[in-house]
Amino acid sequence: MYIEVILPFAIQGTYTYRTAADMALKAGCRVVVPLAKKEVVGIVYKTYTELSPLLDDSKVRDVTAVLDEEAVVTDNQLLLWQWMSDYYMCPIGDVLAAALPKKVMDRQFSFSTSPCERKNQVHITIVQDPFELTEQQERAMKDIRTQWQDKRVVLLHGVTSSGKTEVYIHLIKEQLRAGKQVLYLVPEIALTAQLTDRLQRVFGDRLLVYHSRVSDGKRAEAYKQVLRHGKPQVVVGARSAVFLPFRDLGLVIVDEEHEQSYKQQDPAPRYHGRSVAIMLAYQQGAYALLGTATPSIETMYNVETGKYGCSRMTERFQGLRLPRITLIDLNRQYHRKEMYGHLSDPLVARIQEELAKGKQIILFQNRRGYAPYMQCSNCGSVPKCPNCDVSLTVHRTIRGSYLQCHYCGAETGIMSACSECGSEMKIHGFGTERLEDEVAHLFPKASVARMDLDSTRRKNAYQEIISSFSEHKVDILIGTQMVTKGLHFDDVSLVAVLQADTLFNQPSFRSYERAFQMLEQVAGRAGRKGQQGEVIIQTFDPNHPVFDYLRGHDTDGFYQWQRQERSQFRFPPFCHLITLTVKHRDEERAEAAATELRGHLTDVFGQRCSAVMPPSITRIQNLHIRQIQLRIERTAPIKKGKEMLGQILKELSASGLCKGVIIQPDTEPM
Ligand SMILES: [Zn+2]
Ligand SMILES: [Zn+2]
Repeated sequence: MYIEVILPFAIQGTYTYRTAADMALKAGCRVVVPLAKKEVVGIVYKTYTELSPLLDDSKVRDVTAVLDEEAVVTDNQLLLWQWMSDYYMCPIGDVLAAALPKKVMDRQFSFSTSPCERKNQVHITIVQDPFELTEQQERAMKDIRTQWQDKRVVLLHGVTSSGKTEVYIHLIKEQLRAGKQVLYLVPEIALTAQLTDRLQRVFGDRLLVYHSRVSDGKRAEAYKQVLRHGKPQVVVGARSAVFLPFRDLGLVIVDEEHEQSYKQQDPAPRYHGRSVAIMLAYQQGAYALLGTATPSIETMYNVETGKYGCSRMTERFQGLRLPRITLIDLNRQYHRKEMYGHLSDPLVARIQEELAKGKQIILFQNRRGYAPYMQCSNCGSVPKCPNCDVSLTVHRTIRGSYLQCHYCGAETGIMSACSECGSEMKIHGFGTERLEDEVAHLFPKASVARMDLDSTRRKNAYQEIISSFSEHKVDILIGTQMVTKGLHFDDVSLVAVLQADTLFNQPSFRSYERAFQMLEQVAGRAGRKGQQGEVIIQTFDPNHPVFDYLRGHDTDGFYQWQRQERSQFRFPPFCHLITLTVKHRDEERAEAAATELRGHLTDVFGQRCSAVMPPSITRIQNLHIRQIQLRIERTAPIKKGKEMLGQILKELSASGLCKGVIIQPDTEPM
């Protein structure tokens, strides 16, 4: 007998091995096989009684050991892996490496049941949730159920604080009662501790938490538990939870579906958690529910074209009104010198008033560190990272001042004099650290906390900041986009965005979409029971159209506007966009390889292929980067297109013309 084995590496295709004829080996079992001079653990993909005539029997090696009697990777999983390998154009070995906890691929790890676990009974205890559904939530539930009859994917478009979580919880309960499994995806698990606590109270030991911050050993145990499926389960997790061995999924929820953190950028598979979740639901005949206050343009388009259903919740919980939005023109403020550091006079005055009333305030600046760069006051030179084409960010912390690259982490000391001309260096712009300094100085009696990547690195640090803010031990919370996500605080009356412009000036066709989503989400943190919250936005460009939609909380209007722009300039969802990233340590080699690749692409794809473009950051970690975009019309057979592209990449790699060059296709670029 012969088997095809998937090995957990970035190698194309599968490897064939021989097993004893009487061995009843199943697809999905783990085997130990020889590879060159090593032994590796792989997953059986297919079994054959006869060898393919294309292979030479004398070169096929024997399997070293078989680790499982029963499959530990289900047929459904293998199907999903194959789909991902095709769809995201990466070796199936890359999918395996992303899908299974490392410990599962350890030959010592056993899937056999221990005696005490066998007693696990099928016994459902769902604690009653104290929350009753509101009329609006009841309506949404019925609506979603009705729409599911017709469309398997439904968008729950509910404004911030409309109580989507309660709707999810009720729908999950229904599925558990029917003996089904539920997958509840959240964008970043570290940011949703409030949610997990809540779910834990409702679902108790039915709840399984699965994400990359859970240790690998624990993830392996969770994998085993889902594989057995002794009882109905709800798994709450980040995107990697789509890889669990579900057997009987009834419902997949993708909360905050617009979040870009669902996308895995590196390494391959460069997948989008939302797309894989929808495919997973489809495979298992489960319902899918996408929830958000600020839907992605893609999802809105799928609703518009009738592919997805849509249910709306327009009222906020407990009659809360959507916050009032005030813009402050920074040009005018600076011109009149009505600024305290980076806070305008009117903002300072409003903060003082709210503090006097005993209220809490959130200040949003989507830039961590003290300042984004230093510059020589004479010759204008800016200290750059030695490994990347970016300026170094200034940090000022208890451990001292230093410059850091936010792409590779390289650090160096602060320079007081310019290395080129010896003149004085000045700090430009501001990040959360500088804002914290200024705020502490302006409001000495207020207690101030900062929430960003740097202040939350320590274990539990994130949780501690959230707790002290929700217990009102902190008056002013300063933060990056971390503060925009799914947090609810009763006493926050004022939210301020310190410099909205940085959100618009991103080199991506999604930059307005992201800016709108981020501003609407951060605005959603303002307001408490019975009182309208306020959002103050400081900007150099108060006439930017995004603000018109934001002021009216007009997601539909915003969608119509962006839809038109995307259609006019042919961006997703009006085309299939594929990005090819070419990398090499030597700039000329990168450029030459990209030009070679483009030549082959234009032969096949013609005008669909862009010129070779340097991305906004042309070098990261000493690799020079070039990009080519393919825009394939929606009416064209994209599967065929990807096959043709795959063929070009294969031929190019075989020709040796691009030896040592990294070429990465991304079929769902963000
Ligand atoms: Zn200088
Ligand atoms: Zn760097």
